[in-house]
Amino acid sequence: MQRFYCLLSTLCLSFSVFAQHNHNGAATTDSWQVIHAGQLLSVPGETPHNRQSIIVHNDRIVRVDDGYTDPASLDADNVELIDLSQQFVLPGLIDAHDHITAMPGRVKRIWDTTASDSMRALYGAHYAKLTLEAGFTSVRNIGSIGESIYALRDAIRLGLIPGPRLQAAGNYLSVTGGHGDRATGFRWDLFEPLEHDGICDGADDCRKAVRKLIRKGSDWIKVMATGGVNSEAQTGIGQHFTDEELKAIVDTAHSLGRKVAAHAHAAGGVNAALRAGVDSIEHGAFIDDESIRLFRETGTPLVATLSVGDHVLQIANDPDSGMSEGVRVKAREAIPTMMDNVGRAYRAGVTIVFGTDSGEPEHGRNADEFLFLVQIGMTEMDAIKAATVNAAEMMGVADSVGTIEAGKTADIIAVNSSPLNDISTLQHVGFVMQSGRIVKSGAH
Ligand SMILES: [Zn+2]
Repeated sequence: MQRFYCLLSTLCLSFSVFAQHNHNGAATTDSWQVIHAGQLLSVPGETPHNRQSIIVHNDRIVRVDDGYTDPASLDADNVELIDLSQQFVLPGLIDAHDHITAMPGRVKRIWDTTASDSMRALYGAHYAKLTLEAGFTSVRNIGSIGESIYALRDAIRLGLIPGPRLQAAGNYLSVTGGHGDRATGFRWDLFEPLEHDGICDGADDCRKAVRKLIRKGSDWIKVMATGGVNSEAQTGIGQHFTDEELKAIVDTAHSLGRKVAAHAHAAGGVNAALRAGVDSIEHGAFIDDESIRLFRETGTPLVATLSVGDHVLQIANDPDSGMSEGVRVKAREAIPTMMDNVGRAYRAGVTIVFGTDSGEPEHGRNADEFLFLVQIGMTEMDAIKAATVNAAEMMGVADSVGTIEAGKTADIIAVNSSPLNDISTLQHVGFVMQSGRIVKSGAH
């Protein structure tokens, strides 16, 4: 009916595109699929099973059957059989630390000063497709300059373009001259407009900044609790926001139903952020015994971002990379400790969540992070859990994604062999289904 009606007017085209998708971009026509999975890891952390069937109705998983269910046994027309009997099947992956509108490059300063908001949105659409095709069906975009990220998130949600389901933080909260103040290090007379509405000093100012970001559409608040490596700020990697400011930020965000992610390197800043009640710590290069105690006491997860460390250190060690001397010094100071400390936190029982900081490293290579996680001593199963169950829990979406169970959204991927034996197989995801729609099918 809709299709016939739309023959009459080009205006109907947009209506038609919209009408064929629900808010997750899933087909709304009645569709049934039976997936035969050679091996199925339905709940990361639990044992995988051989010869399983996943029954999908529209965008939802109806049930998981033991053995191979005959599509004809379903009381429905046009049931599609998806044969993954030679594959290892697992839930869609989640990257909980991504910058999907950012162009990876050796010198961030160029991108920061040349890319318009519109250009970031278009690059973001390109990177979103690469990320989804790599098997990442959900992403937490934890900080982005400008407002393009909200448009990208909403366009994906409407099914207008392919991409991971996004939770988005907009501009970074940063002290004046801090890690998220992108005007730092530039000629002030020329680049003052780079100062954005996430810059705040003092508790009242920070409350207002949080509210402004939420008004624009931020799902998460990203706060630069300490200095950071890859910015021109020459103010170290110690604590930047005061305890009082951190508390004001967290309380304001929570009162408005938003979560807070704290970028933090030095132990003092990590610990202050944990005491203030943030919902995640990002990076954590210099965590100490007190940090580990606080992580365990609060249950706050550590979002390890090991691939970015490796990436930035390589640039720092290349004399011709164009990286400023100040950034090189910070990179050599912070990064080598990150691997050791994330390993230490893991062994002490801290919840580790998967994050890549893509936008520094290349988009679509998010699975490289798995290799680093295994390198620091995580089991393959725990590394997968970090990118599914743990990430979903942290993002407040564990009721819909992170596992393959009845009632959940049909986000399903497959690889040629078991990642529990060789984690690198996740760098070659051959099959991707998101919200019941196949977005990639076939050998990688
Ligand atoms: Zn980041």
